[in-house]
Amino acid sequence: MAKIIKVQKGTKDILPQEVEQWHRLEKNALEIFTRYGYKEIRTPIFEATELFARGVGDTTDIVNKEMYTFEKSDRSITLRPENTAGVVRSFIENGMSRLSAPVKLWYKGPMFRYERPQAGRQRQFHQVGVEMFGIKEPTADAEAIMLAVDYLKSLGLNDLEVEINSLGCPKCREEYKNKIKEVLKPEFDNLCEDCQSRYEKNPLRLLDCKVESCKEIFEKPEIKKVIQSDFICEECAQHYSKLKSYLDKLNINYTENKLLVRGLDYYNRTVFEIKSNNLGSQNAVCGGGRYDSLVRNLGGEDTPAVGWAMGMERLNSLLPDIDSHKLDAYVVSNSETEAFILTQELREKGVKVEFDLANKKFTKQLEKASKTANYALIIGEDEIKANKVSVKNLQTSEQVTVDRKDVINNINIG
Ligand code: ATP
Ligand code: MG
Repeated sequence: MAKIIKVQKGTKDILPQEVEQWHRLEKNALEIFTRYGYKEIRTPIFEATELFARGVGDTTDIVNKEMYTFEKSDRSITLRPENTAGVVRSFIENGMSRLSAPVKLWYKGPMFRYERPQAGRQRQFHQVGVEMFGIKEPTADAEAIMLAVDYLKSLGLNDLEVEINSLGCPKCREEYKNKIKEVLKPEFDNLCEDCQSRYEKNPLRLLDCKVESCKEIFEKPEIKKVIQSDFICEECAQHYSKLKSYLDKLNINYTENKLLVRGLDYYNRTVFEIKSNNLGSQNAVCGGGRYDSLVRNLGGEDTPAVGWAMGMERLNSLLPDIDSHKLDAYVVSNSETEAFILTQELREKGVKVEFDLANKKFTKQLEKASKTANYALIIGEDEIKANKVSVKNLQTSEQVTVDRKDVINNINIG
């Protein structure tokens, strides 16, 4: 036998019995995001490598370690590791800054990151996300968070933890960065390798290190004091306190987490994550924030923006399985032609129905019906002559014989 080729490490098939769950995530996204004025955008799965180097930031794990990059005709191309950069590229390229603000865009689709596969972490995974352009006021941040909470609620996920923080603006953050570096200097040799290499380039990133020994260092009183200090400037502080007051008024429960800095370079002011206690160590379902300088950094006009992305695999693992693949009805008959015709009549009326394509025996057909459908529609010789159909409810075993045209009124279709 020929050698079997297996699925690639860190990737998964989404099998027919799982696909219904995915449809639910996508359907609710379309419905809820549309309610908030968002329109869907579909950008390519690969982009110029430079887009991510500039758009995500070359001090990030994503750009440094996780990108799928390849050369094609002297061009460096990368499979998208996230979609904000792609959406921003499209926003600029298609002149969307001329549209009246806010411009609200949402997307869904596969992302690619070369990471160590583990529970909740794949190399090809899916995100659903939103980006809002053109509004600098904290109402936009609050609405984006509200939308995430609303979407999760629509999926029955009411008890997730919203964490927020403000990273300030590049100006006030600079001082904070320096203070962090200063207080961590004596501990440099005790930091993990990643933190040591981030220390110069991106010291804030140290704060969300997941390594236990680093976390312990950040708990030391003199270090914790600096981390927890209020460093943001007056304007940033006002923005943040307005955001919090909107969240309070909208009854969104949140906690403030000074260690929340997010992995990407482009955030300023608001950052947030939504976490679940039921996910183990990969516990974030949603991450987002404000990125007022990204559009300009990628060559567009100065445009404030805020957005978030959710991991669809992690969302799915929080949801109960659904598998409503049962047929409404299965047609049982010794005449495959009659069965075929009745099946088609009903399909045209929207019924999910099949008949036996293999012309098996009547009893086999009945067995198949009870395994796969809610109703058996029986057309024996008598029924054919009288233009009738016997409708058998396979849950209750009740059976009625009705006119062919009335079949549709005697079954529940799902
Ligand atoms: P993490 O800290 O878990 O690595 P991140 O900060 O890298 O997350 P983001 O870039 O903010 O993640 O992506 C948003 C969401 O996408 C995450 O909250 C998570 O739900 C999901 N996600 C990110 N990376 C993966 C992955 N490799 N596999 C599955 N889901 C992922
Ligand atoms: Mg990551």
